[in-house]
Amino acid sequence: MPTNPLVALDRDHLIHPVVNYRAHEQRGVTILESGHGAYLRDTQGTELLDAFSGLWCVNVGYGQQSVVQAAAEQMAKLPYATGYFHYGSEPAIRLAARLVELAPASLRHVYFTLGGSDANDSAIRFITHYYNSTGRPQKKHFISIERGYHGSSSQSAGLTALAVFHQNFDLPLPSQHKIPSPYPYRNPAGSDADAIIRASVAALRAKVQELGRDNVAAFFCEPIQGSGGVIVPPKGWLKAMGDACRELDILFVVDEVITGFGRTGPMFACEAEGAEPDLMMLAKGLTAGYAPMGAVLMSDRVYQGIADGVAPGVPVGHGYTYSAHPVSAAIGLEVLRLYTEGGLLANGIAQAPLFEQGLRDLLEHPLVGDARSRGLLGALELVADKSTKARFDPALKLHERIADAAYRNQVIFRAFGDNVLGFAPALCYTQADFELLFARLKKTLDEVLDQPD
Ligand code: PLP
Repeated sequence: MPTNPLVALDRDHLIHPVVNYRAHEQRGVTILESGHGAYLRDTQGTELLDAFSGLWCVNVGYGQQSVVQAAAEQMAKLPYATGYFHYGSEPAIRLAARLVELAPASLRHVYFTLGGSDANDSAIRFITHYYNSTGRPQKKHFISIERGYHGSSSQSAGLTALAVFHQNFDLPLPSQHKIPSPYPYRNPAGSDADAIIRASVAALRAKVQELGRDNVAAFFCEPIQGSGGVIVPPKGWLKAMGDACRELDILFVVDEVITGFGRTGPMFACEAEGAEPDLMMLAKGLTAGYAPMGAVLMSDRVYQGIADGVAPGVPVGHGYTYSAHPVSAAIGLEVLRLYTEGGLLANGIAQAPLFEQGLRDLLEHPLVGDARSRGLLGALELVADKSTKARFDPALKLHERIADAAYRNQVIFRAFGDNVLGFAPALCYTQADFELLFARLKKTLDEVLDQPD
């Protein structure tokens, strides 16, 4: 079959996010061409079941015509309106108001970004401004969690705790600190929920004490760590961390970029936990990947502190050309309607037990050491020895072989470097989609087991 000329053009000109550049030059690009529901089609005509919603974002599935129509109508009417100079657009205003209605009651104000990295960066800038504005300029240190992911912009990548985002980028910054992950499968405190929660709270207290509470600005966390390997803390963990932040007088900042919009069941993971953050970051499911958009939601206290922190007539110098983009906002409004009136949130909740059971059944497979999930966010952790939880030798490159075998078996999920397989099926998945997912997944694991080296 003749090679697609796009492969050479890609190799010569397009730099891809988070790949090994030399490996990509050798391997070449896999070009996806179309999508419908939970299925993608590549340029070879292969139909693939997407069990990762693109990059944990296409929560409503592909080809939702009402979203396409909302975008087209907004583009025809007004494709762009700046938010600078006191201008605005109807969809952006309505979307902000709708998010405040849906979010935890502590959050009253919305700043729109282009995605999750700049939402985290914006939060850092707002927090810095807030403390400078409110007379506590020494509060400059930020604490996040090992294995956490908060983006790859200059500052958010330092809160991220994955080595490749730091190496050769001179990160983390001296003001960015980490505490251990509440990783139930490998927690030195054991697997008991209370013990894990106590250990995390103690670690946060100890870190704040070490830095001095007058020097610490905020604690950032994901309700479930996504890119770090879908690490699901026990119920009650998020609330306990929020309570600890209050007690320590630092801001509690929750990154719901993955966990938002029904991914774990409710609209936001904070809702199920009764957690009330001071700031919350959103992206991905906000527009379900149909256009770029993220958001920072903030409490009235933080907003008022910033608003009063500048002299009359002086702007707060933070903004992007595409903040509050009207087309993205129109898409966001329709996507929110699909979650609620369209029944997708309810479908996600109804299907979650099937997903959980399917993952749990695979614990019987010789390669699978742990199965974990909440809602439609889950993972399998593969181990070389189930009794010691020993990992596979990285030289085996098992994760790459699994990803290749999965593709041959027409299913896409995320195979992380440490052999955690991450899943984030769309909220439109049916029982038949789940049956197909687990049949293809089991076949993939069996194939890899048959050729371990
Ligand atoms: N925060 C979390 C929890 C994420 O998972 C991600 C992306 O995966 C980000 C932030 C960064 O978002 P983006 O890639 O849209 O910049």
